[in-house]
Amino acid sequence: MSTAGFNSQNGTGTGQTYANGPSQNPVAMQQHPGVSYGMPHQPAYNPMQAKAPAPPGPGLHYPSGPYQPIPPVSSYQPAPPPHNSYPAPQGQPLLTRPQMGAPPSIHTPPQSASPGPRMPPAQATPPPPAVSSSSYYPNPQHPQPMAPAAWQYNTAAPPPMGPPPSMSTPPRGPVANHVNPAAGPTAQPPHSSPAAYSSAQPPHSAAQPPGPGMPPTSLHGYIQPGTAPPPMNPMAPQTYQPSRGPYGPPPTGPPPTMKPPPTGPQMANATPPPPKADGTVAGNGPQAPNSYNHVDSKMAGMPQPGPPGRHLGHYPSLPPGYQNTPSPVHPGMQAATQPYTQAPQPYQQPPGGPGPAQLSPSLAGLSLQSSTPEALRVVNLLQERNLLPPTPIPAPTPCLPQDLQKINCNPEVFRSTLTSIPQTQSLLNKAKMPLGLLLHPFKDLSQLPVVTSSTIVRCRSCRTYINPFVSFLDQRRWKCNLCFRVNDVPEEFMYNPVSRSYGEPHKRPEVQNATIEFIAPSEYMLRPPQPAVYLFVLDVSHNAVETGYLNVFCQSLLENINALPGDSRTKVGFITFDSTIHFYNLQEGLSQPQMLIVSDIEDIFLPTPDSLLVNLNECKELVQDLLKSLPTLFEKTMETQSALGSALQAAFKLVSPTGGRMSVFQTQLPNLGVGALQSREDPNQRASAKDIPHLSPATDFYKKLALDCSGQQVAVDLFLLSSQYCDLASLGCISRYSAGSVYYYPSYHHQHNPAQVECFQKDLKRYLTRKIGFEAVMRIRCTKGMSIHTFHGNFFVRSTDLLSLPNVNPDAGFAVQMSIEENLDDMQVVSFQAALLYTSSKGERRIRVHTLCLPVVNSLSDIFAGADVQAITGLLACMAVDRSVTASMGDARDAMTNAAIDSLSSYRQSVLTIQQPGLLAPVCLRLFPLFILALLKQKAFRTGTSTRLDDRVAAMCQLKYQPLIYSMLMIHPALYRVDDLNDEGALNISERTIPQPKLLQLSVEKLSREAAFLMDAGTVIYLWIGRNCHPTFLTQVLGVPNYAAVPENLYMLPELDTAESQRTRAFIGWLRDQRPFFPPLHVIRDESQRKASFMQNMVEDRTESALSYYEFLLHLQQQISK
Ligand SMILES: [Zn+2]
Repeated sequence: MSTAGFNSQNGTGTGQTYANGPSQNPVAMQQHPGVSYGMPHQPAYNPMQAKAPAPPGPGLHYPSGPYQPIPPVSSYQPAPPPHNSYPAPQGQPLLTRPQMGAPPSIHTPPQSASPGPRMPPAQATPPPPAVSSSSYYPNPQHPQPMAPAAWQYNTAAPPPMGPPPSMSTPPRGPVANHVNPAAGPTAQPPHSSPAAYSSAQPPHSAAQPPGPGMPPTSLHGYIQPGTAPPPMNPMAPQTYQPSRGPYGPPPTGPPPTMKPPPTGPQMANATPPPPKADGTVAGNGPQAPNSYNHVDSKMAGMPQPGPPGRHLGHYPSLPPGYQNTPSPVHPGMQAATQPYTQAPQPYQQPPGGPGPAQLSPSLAGLSLQSSTPEALRVVNLLQERNLLPPTPIPAPTPCLPQDLQKINCNPEVFRSTLTSIPQTQSLLNKAKMPLGLLLHPFKDLSQLPVVTSSTIVRCRSCRTYINPFVSFLDQRRWKCNLCFRVNDVPEEFMYNPVSRSYGEPHKRPEVQNATIEFIAPSEYMLRPPQPAVYLFVLDVSHNAVETGYLNVFCQSLLENINALPGDSRTKVGFITFDSTIHFYNLQEGLSQPQMLIVSDIEDIFLPTPDSLLVNLNECKELVQDLLKSLPTLFEKTMETQSALGSALQAAFKLVSPTGGRMSVFQTQLPNLGVGALQSREDPNQRASAKDIPHLSPATDFYKKLALDCSGQQVAVDLFLLSSQYCDLASLGCISRYSAGSVYYYPSYHHQHNPAQVECFQKDLKRYLTRKIGFEAVMRIRCTKGMSIHTFHGNFFVRSTDLLSLPNVNPDAGFAVQMSIEENLDDMQVVSFQAALLYTSSKGERRIRVHTLCLPVVNSLSDIFAGADVQAITGLLACMAVDRSVTASMGDARDAMTNAAIDSLSSYRQSVLTIQQPGLLAPVCLRLFPLFILALLKQKAFRTGTSTRLDDRVAAMCQLKYQPLIYSMLMIHPALYRVDDLNDEGALNISERTIPQPKLLQLSVEKLSREAAFLMDAGTVIYLWIGRNCHPTFLTQVLGVPNYAAVPENLYMLPELDTAESQRTRAFIGWLRDQRPFFPPLHVIRDESQRKASFMQNMVEDRTESALSYYEFLLHLQQQISK
């Protein structure tokens, strides 16, 4: 029994003390009395909470995350450029011509250090002293532990009651569910003009044979070739079965006069004014005039003036297909007089709401236990040692009726830690498992239905998008599955573009696909969609030149310049920096690029603001010239200093008018000007078995700048290529809060580390050419009664459920934690919906919507039966990263261990009917202790093993940011024997045979000197060669005569024309193809330097500093039986 930890943690009395910095839902943290939203009536189970009462000292208050509230002071104020002088000319112009006749001195990059003024700028926030290891507060001069961070949330504008914060936006626009509020019974429907309809017709009705399984034509632009085709929501599976049994509690029959559901109107009336769009960010920067905070909610709902559902009018412009369809009743007539009885097609839905969201008797009859007995089968972990299945573990299938599950969201996109949702928070607390969602919302999909419609049908009350899990009360009304409001079916929705038939709203693509994308009308825009804007910010200091990265970057961009996502409006720009900032005038008409150097880094300005960010199409030759000359331009530089902070400020000034993407390449610790950092790592402490200091940022400069960027729709991606400590904990904030990504290449060197170079090249290609969404927001909604509180990933939380994502990329994952606020006992299912509103690189505003439906259960055994051990592990990893930063590594490690102890303990006490000795787990959780042990040994969390601080922080970033399938490989790598690959069970993809060897346990016991083993650790792949490896493998795959001849630092398999070589390469290639980043391959011998990093992944084995798996199980058992 380990409940002591939880008792004491609950003793804090808040249940919400676990903070995630800015991504914590501040409402949940701050406990506004009377505001039900975010105030669980019971503390949520949170294994990451401190297990002991907080010791005194600031180090253990963490209400507002690792960072201090930022005073609303801009750390830099734009200075009027004219007052700034260029430095005196110092060298011969290189690229160069004086600009604008003015005296900007243009010169070659300094050959020696010639930094500008070093005095901190008067207006800059002084960099706070480095934090002590026990403090979360990098900025002790502003200790306001209990005060909400100003940038976090505008406490003056508490969120509206109830889960749908989007309601707080005043309804607006005539498009509310296609109902014109002014329209009387005889009014024309607002959007039924011929033009409106034709534009609303999705492409697939015309260009593709209608029917299920066919993606719409417009989809093709969004298919990324080369991605593994996930079985993603095949178009219109047509699973709706009118003859389906009576789902749904009978509360709402098909009454002709609609009774508004109790919550709807009240909620609407109770809506306070919307939180200010800019109110959520402290005034430390320009407010975002173009922030898309509320656009997602703007589309919409005028309060319904009268009984809904009766909006009239004819259907004037019908496609030929429809006109041939007999329509028994004129729609107007029908609506006025015979609401439901004379539907054009028989609609044999029993009264009481046929929709899946209202399932009841049929589902209630299902017993989870009987349908999934295997998940609950008892396993004694101490006895059954071979638990690892030979193939990757699939996500568990929620226990839903088959027709619902068939259309449910793909778990690769949307997944819950518990596939059966507990009815109450107290039940969830008893289960002692974390409840949360893991999302990969912008994943490349092989099939994605795209709908063009002038009316995007959404719940009038909570703004939920219509989805497969709503219920149709009848043909004209649908009931929201999140707030239960009854809404009208708009006239336009009566036509099904897929089947070209009328009167089957339940067969529309929106109701047949749990993942769908809409082309958004203008209501979803606050400004014209921005162009694709790419700004590259490049370190050109001596250190950077030494690594040789610049050449690879320029070459890669040259090769991919025509594949950058965008259109005729695409803009690009370049900034390079060392101790000064160099801009490049790429104005059309110049004969060559001009370099403009600004050495006044304390007061940065743009020398020629209009010609630094240029249209790519018009200025492509100049851009290409620049890329060809850049690597040589700085070849001889001796400049060692790095004014990264000023370069970022300059870049921000350049991109902020439009928004866009900043790609920053940095190779050393910034040591000059604003944002300068000092080394905080003590190499002697890398193997510390105690707590790990310096995981939180040393300065808030990067975070503040990131928030400014977020406000202006700018995301910053950081490429850190370094052989030395760079303080990623501080630098990473620039990407974390601006929704960027961090790429980390430790020990990058163009000659010494060819594997890293290949990795960088491949990553760059993907990065430059992958899909991108600009000025995005993502809102996650859930069924009333549940609430979302803590978010994980890279973004800024603008309001309770709205994430600001200046850029969104297809490789980013997110996670959220949830609690249950109200009893869900009258529900059979609940739903979760993620809506991502973004601007495509072609300037289209689009909305991608994913809806996940899960059953509600009321017994602990059912909850356990639905546990998704991988999702739980992934969520715990995110929580532990936060915990490590806000509290300590020791706390995080204890909390992870306690998570295993508590859930197994709860299972033993509450689910097992027959007590028996041993460490017992249900089958579905049998790998939980193993995964927890693997987390404890993961680079991010391990102690007692030499781990560079930046390596650790990089691993933490990846755990928070990567989609679950990739982070699971980082946690528990996949081990295969590969010297005997054969075609048994092989896949056949594109005429290539891909062997499928069995997964092996991560233990040296499984290795054999006579064999070769491949370990896929997610971001890196190892090929371990046994000392007595069979000569066939050595010659046929590695191309060497014997073991001794295997070269050190082999990172690429020779392309030999042998079956063995082809199989091995096909397998490795297939593994790599399944992820968007490039894992380098390291061939490992006993003598290899990297042997240790390979062996450290053998998580089942004992090491000097960590328990073996069996020892860990014994430890768990002891704790449980205490
Ligand atoms: Zn609703």
